[in-house]
Formats: sequence, C-alpha cells, structure tokens
Amino acid sequence: MKKNFQVLYQQLLERQSELRNAFLRHDERSGEEEELRDEGDFAIASAESFLDDTLMRHFRIEYDEIEYAIKKIEERTYGICEMCGDDIDIERLFAKPHARYCIVCHEHIERENGQRRRR
Ligand SMILES: [Zn+2]
Repeated sequence: MKKNFQVLYQQLLERQSELRNAFLRHDERSGEEEELRDEGDFAIASAESFLDDTLMRHFRIEYDEIEYAIKKIEERTYGICEMCGDDIDIERLFAKPHARYCIVCHEHIERENGQRRRR
C-alpha cells in the first residue's frame, strides 16, 4: 500500500465509525424519545434533532461510498479512475477520499447530469 493511501485509509475508517455512531444515536433516539423526561436529556435531544431522516439518508449513502473505498484500498484498486483508468490526483483523494473518478471524468459526468436535469 502506498504511504499516502495508509493515511486516507485511516481517515476513511474514522469517518466510517463516526457515521456508524450517528446511526446508533439516531436509532436509539427514535426508539427512546418517550423516555427523555429530565431536562438534561431533553437538551441533548434538541441539540441532535437536526440529525433527521434526510441527513441520515445522506449519511447512509456516504457510508456506502466509504465502505466501497475501503474495500478498494484493501483490494489495491484504490486511486484509479473507474472511467478512464488513470491515477486520481492525490490532492483530489485527500479532498474527497471516496472519489471514484479523476477530475476530468468527474467534470464530464457532472456536465452530463446537469444536462439531464435541465431537460
Ligand atoms: Zn478518469
């Protein structure tokens, strides 16, 4: 494994466990909302109420992407664009560790999506 990927690998694992904790907190809260009676618990529940279902959906998508990136690092196929097969810039990987495409292909896909949305 390239040294740079080791750092990214750790970052991905950390982010994955953060997301996993967010899922657990979310599940616990939906199950135990009724039991939050005293003031302290109520304050915590309010502070975290932004963790709503929409955000959870985004988290789950991110979680899947991270899991996929971790698998690719383990299989040594990480850092290679899935579209053209070129190496993805390391700066791009640090900015977005679960990137699947190089910046050229990414922009191409974004343009295609943009055109589809406008139709
Ligand atoms: Zn590419």
